Amino acid sequence: MKFVQAAKHGGAQNRVTRIVIHGTVSPCVDGGARNVARYFRSDRAGGSAHYIVDPGETIACVREGTVAYHAPPNTDSIGVELCDPQKGPASRWRDDNHVAMLKRAAVLVRQIAARWDVPLRRLSAAEVKGGKRGICGHVDVSRAFGQTDHTDPGTAFPWDDFMDLVRGDEEEPAPPKVVVRDGVPQWPGRTLAVADPMQRGDDVKTWQAKMSKRGWDIDVDGWYGPDSRTVCRGYQRATGLPDTGEVDRATWEMTWSWRPPAAT
Ligand SMILES: [Zn+2]
Repeated sequence: MKFVQAAKHGGAQNRVTRIVIHGTVSPCVDGGARNVARYFRSDRAGGSAHYIVDPGETIACVREGTVAYHAPPNTDSIGVELCDPQKGPASRWRDDNHVAMLKRAAVLVRQIAARWDVPLRRLSAAEVKGGKRGICGHVDVSRAFGQTDHTDPGTAFPWDDFMDLVRGDEEEPAPPKVVVRDGVPQWPGRTLAVADPMQRGDDVKTWQAKMSKRGWDIDVDGWYGPDSRTVCRGYQRATGLPDTGEVDRATWEMTWSWRPPAAT
């Protein structure tokens, strides 16, 4: 996925309470996401979002572990912008471009939810206000907290269809199997990261089990979440690797080749 850093963003966030759906007020066309990303990157931008989706592409603009300025109060939320003019007949949401974009956005939202253990349910404004966890529109955040008057993604947004797509069972790529050679689990060929769409897997569990065995305080649950990232950073610092918080090839191989003197 292409990443174009947005100019406006806040500090770190370590949990996600809600995933917020927005409408960009721009055309639902291929290249629409790039245009909005270019705007977010510029000094003119008043806000930002973690992702922008158009019919053919998804662009990330703010890392999920960083606060984006999309629907205040922003902390502990993820903003997903859908390219839509926010005017015209409600039936536009059923045209080819919108349908392609909704499918793309639904897969993204499901992946974000899996990464942060967000339930796949739509929240009312009252539930947003009550701190419930789930998926909502910018309009619900506006109503809950009154910090913006934005009403996107609009009354025509097909919430029921979208939530069906989010909960759907479209094929997701299976995480790689770990191959053990001479007793050593081999690099699975992908970086384990909180931002990775395939955050669960055998390889994650294998790495967690090794770290746990080495005395690190980590749950061996096969889910590479913020806790795994923290342990990874600690291990990388202890071993002199760049502390990215992501288990790349060097970190994976170091995990089986060298134990740092002080694993704390
Ligand atoms: Zn919005």
